[in-house]
Amino acid sequence: MDWEDFRTRGKDAADWAADYHAGLRERPVRAQTKPGDIIAQLPPSAPEQPETIDAILNDLEHKIMPGMTHWQHPRFFAYFPANAAPVSVLAESYVTAIAAQCMLWQTSPAATELETRTCDWMRQAVGLPDGFSGVIQDSASTATLCAVLTMRERALDWAGNRAGLSGQPRLRIYASGEVHTSIDRAIWIAGIGEANLVRIPVTGPSRAMDVTALQAAITADRAAGHLPAGIITCVGGTGVGATDNIAAVMDIAESEGLYTHVDAAWAGAAMICPEFQDIWAGVARADSVVLNPHKWLGAQFDCTTHFLRDPTSLVRTLAIQPEYLKSDGADGGIINYSEWSVPLGRRFRALKLWFLLRAHGLDGLRGMIRNHVKWAKGLAGLLAETADFEIVTEPMLSLFSFRYAPDGVADLDALNQQLVNAINADGRIYLTQTRVDGDLVIRFQAGSWSCTAEDIATAFDVIIELAPKVAAQMSA
Ligand SMILES: *Cc1c(COP(=O)(O)O)cnc(C)c1O
Repeated sequence: MDWEDFRTRGKDAADWAADYHAGLRERPVRAQTKPGDIIAQLPPSAPEQPETIDAILNDLEHKIMPGMTHWQHPRFFAYFPANAAPVSVLAESYVTAIAAQCMLWQTSPAATELETRTCDWMRQAVGLPDGFSGVIQDSASTATLCAVLTMRERALDWAGNRAGLSGQPRLRIYASGEVHTSIDRAIWIAGIGEANLVRIPVTGPSRAMDVTALQAAITADRAAGHLPAGIITCVGGTGVGATDNIAAVMDIAESEGLYTHVDAAWAGAAMICPEFQDIWAGVARADSVVLNPHKWLGAQFDCTTHFLRDPTSLVRTLAIQPEYLKSDGADGGIINYSEWSVPLGRRFRALKLWFLLRAHGLDGLRGMIRNHVKWAKGLAGLLAETADFEIVTEPMLSLFSFRYAPDGVADLDALNQQLVNAINADGRIYLTQTRVDGDLVIRFQAGSWSCTAEDIATAFDVIIELAPKVAAQMSA
């Protein structure tokens, strides 16, 4: 295939994309295949001879698409959304056509400067004060890893990178049990070790870190000769939206001199609505804040905005300059974003954020988020009024959890797992389960870019239609 073929095939792909999205409601949300179904249809070795594009596209349609779970489906209510607004998909086509590497300013000046500008637009939109700098990482997991490495190096006065961790005191990092598993992995990768991720118990309906317990843990660690390095908070945890009291944590972090990271990967998108910003009051005092425009906001994966109150510690932790990466010195005052992240190579991620923010405006995006929050609350209200259903965690923005608990069922965990399985096999909607205080509950989040009020109504219908059937099957 050459670029002249691409001219027509690319136009066909645009038609295919529009048709695919227009027909999503006709498809089951979750793939209805069994493990091994797809790989069994694929030849074990690569072809020696070229094949036609028609043959490849035919296999895409008939062998691959039936095995896809449709993340852009309007009735995708599982996990968190990974929205790809049409305009961000369009932007990605330009990005892949240009296919630049954006590691240094000079390897793509426009990409660097657009990244600086769009991050600053986002900073203002979510209410972070002037002075915070932003960088676009590939994922929240990477941003968290960067923050944890910075915590480590700052606490060790930058001896970790040079000399390694042996012979050093035990580094200690504090977080609740509600934080995402990317925090555990960052701790592993940074060589700090899971045993030194100190889990602070949570209190209250928002499942916030108990700050008295946090202070006690830090004090005890210092007395034991350990080295407290940082605190990781969450705003909108993955399970049920747990949210720490950021201001109270910052009081402790400041008095203890600890680096702080706020993981608002999902909920951060809602901070573009001023009425929700109370949720993370105190965030202006954090050192590092991550939120994913690639989740709820509509910038196609991957697009994580990572904000630093002062990037100096991060850059001192990660920057490395072999001769071949040195610039000619004429570009003083420029940013080389690869010094702010773990991988060297960097995609031109700012373009889709720029297209998205311009094509919809902040107000257009706020409208979508407000609808999702309103609809999720509406559905939680309906389920609360329905016999045998209980709301386990109240809506945190557009996320809540519920449980089907009819009388006379001994094993409610099994019943609710069966209900999730039945709902997902039905295919009209897609939900996932989680555990709250040991109980298996069903999670619901409204967040799909193309979701409508009718899709939420369908979710209610499917849930109340299937629940009694599953209960009857279990008692049969
Ligand atoms: C999704 C999520 C993550 C991980 O995000 P990636 O960008 O996929 O790495 C981390 N924390 C929270 C709270 C999340 O919801």
